[in-house]
Amino acid sequence: MNYFVNEKGYYGDFGGAYIPEMLYPNVEELRQNYLKIINDADFQKEFHALLKDYVGRPSPLYLAKRLSKKYNAHIFLKREDLNHTGAHKINNTIGQILLAEKLGKKRIIAETGAGQHGVATATVCALRGLECVIYMGEVDIQRQAPNVARMKMLGATVISAVSGSKTLKDATNEAMRDWINNPVDTHYIIGSVVGPHPYPDMVSIFQSVISEETKKQLMEQTGSDQPDYVLACVGGGSNAMGMFYHFIGDENVKLIAVEAAGKGVSSGFSAATTFLGKEGVLHGSRSILMQTADGQVVEPHSVSAGLDYPGIGPQHAHLFKTTRAQYASITDEESLEAGLLCTQMEGIIPAIESAHALAYLEKMEFTGNENVVVCLSGRGDKDMQTYMNYFGF
Ligand SMILES: *Cc1c(COP(=O)(O)O)cnc(C)c1O
Repeated sequence: MNYFVNEKGYYGDFGGAYIPEMLYPNVEELRQNYLKIINDADFQKEFHALLKDYVGRPSPLYLAKRLSKKYNAHIFLKREDLNHTGAHKINNTIGQILLAEKLGKKRIIAETGAGQHGVATATVCALRGLECVIYMGEVDIQRQAPNVARMKMLGATVISAVSGSKTLKDATNEAMRDWINNPVDTHYIIGSVVGPHPYPDMVSIFQSVISEETKKQLMEQTGSDQPDYVLACVGGGSNAMGMFYHFIGDENVKLIAVEAAGKGVSSGFSAATTFLGKEGVLHGSRSILMQTADGQVVEPHSVSAGLDYPGIGPQHAHLFKTTRAQYASITDEESLEAGLLCTQMEGIIPAIESAHALAYLEKMEFTGNENVVVCLSGRGDKDMQTYMNYFGF
């Protein structure tokens, strides 16, 4: 069974590039060049130097002793929360900005919902001195004022998307329109393993540093590079793909992807895509997405902005359909409780996204010897208001 992309840009039944004809030249330029550029020795050297000295990699693999005792297993946390800017997203934006430079691009565009990907993009544009334009829904701009201020301070222009529901999908439409109008000098940085081929593959390659490091660290700490379980939360699925990447071929390593159930999978306020979704096309690729009977995208809900997405990347759809990975979901409340538990037992405040992966430990049963790796995709500073509202601190 092949779990990676084929020459046509597909993962089994999923993937491809479902794009308007006017975007074809841009996507085709990327498709023809991305592997050549990424595999070039100079690119690799520069990418890894920045990951080390700018992002702060390798991120630690931390054996969480008190959580281990509670769950009766060896619980390792992969500390993406310690990266510069506070999450895994910077791994991808560093990779893509270097790639954009190699393609001779002078201008970067991106879309953002909660603003995390916008901040990671504006950060690398400041680092490399490239013009940066971020599209964001008008409603999200109001909801996420601190991240808007960060992007502006970093030198980005934030453009408000005022059509439709004035949220992420409308910002995506505006960014697409911009890219169509600026095909020569502009690169579009997509923030997860979604979008037309080659984006899902490209983003997963940049994020695969997570599992590459984890294998080495497990070997040092446990004497084997194969844990029993690997867990990660899934919005679009980039931290999970990075965490799974080098374990996919190890069929005895169980992969668990945790989606956001929101207020409950049957509540009408959920983002549990594999549970609620059907096959279809979203944002340029064939995957699984939440949709009405006539194919309109259903508005998702999650307490965590990063998981509030109505689809999953095509490689996840393939891992789900082939059952190579197991897909589970965790409610808003379960995630907040798990976030508090991690904070008070390990002194680590996790992003609420990451707390979804931690919460799944409650649903597992261990015999005492299992090695379990949980991807701690980000830190919880950005979520303090939500934690405060829920717990009344
Ligand atoms: C954006 C984000 C996610 C969700 O995105 P994926 O592409 O699914 O990884 C998860 N955790 C954090 C901390 C995020 O910022």
